[in-house]
Amino acid sequence: MIELKTPAEIEQMRAAGTFVADVLTELKAAAAVGVNLLTLDSIAHGLIRRSGAESCYIDYHPSFGAMPFGKVLCTSVNDAALHGLPHDYRLADGDVISLDFAASVDGWVADSALTVVVGTARDEDLRMIETTENALAAGIAAATIGNRIGDISAAIGAVGHAAGFSINTDFGGHGVGRTMHGDPHIANDGRPGRGLPLRAGLVFAIEPWFMLGTDRIFTDPDGWTLRSLDGSRAAHAEHTVAVTEDGPVILTARG
Ligand code: MG
Repeated sequence: MIELKTPAEIEQMRAAGTFVADVLTELKAAAAVGVNLLTLDSIAHGLIRRSGAESCYIDYHPSFGAMPFGKVLCTSVNDAALHGLPHDYRLADGDVISLDFAASVDGWVADSALTVVVGTARDEDLRMIETTENALAAGIAAATIGNRIGDISAAIGAVGHAAGFSINTDFGGHGVGRTMHGDPHIANDGRPGRGLPLRAGLVFAIEPWFMLGTDRIFTDPDGWTLRSLDGSRAAHAEHTVAVTEDGPVILTARG
């Protein structure tokens, strides 16, 4: 079902958006060579407890998950593309880590992700991250009244293809509201002019993710982490966005 939010409800969602943005800003600063993924999860958990927010992940148990997620943060390192389950691993020089975080505040959810390199970066990794951020910006720019969902998908896909990436469309953007995942699905590639017409009050996460090599993934034995089939590295960028009469509004914008 597609939910439309009133302007007042979108205002209410800003608290969740700001909280998620602030947590990601803290985690980005904390991610460094030698830092354990479990420490990053603990930092996020502490911020949740202090603020009275609720984690969207800790009890999350969809049909594709082997067990409840049990952590509050996704930490996807190097060949892990999405849904990386935090585990006992210390970040090494040159690692690429995506941090994906969703929480609810006052009953409204926000969902956002970013990717950084810790320590010495490889040029190809920086280029992949920049392309992912550019694809997110292009997708957000297409989230305007009069466009359709396919215009967002096409805008993301065009940036990825121009950079030479093949694109996996198994996972993509999704409606966000009282729960973390709703309709519509927003694929990271597609044809313009297709799909749901965009109307004021639609709120969704737009989340391109690209891999340097293959477009195929597999599930790690941990039951959650999705890894590239060929071991190539991945990047992910995500914002929760509201479609409004005044254009797209990024609810999870970082200061
Ligand atoms: Mg997310």
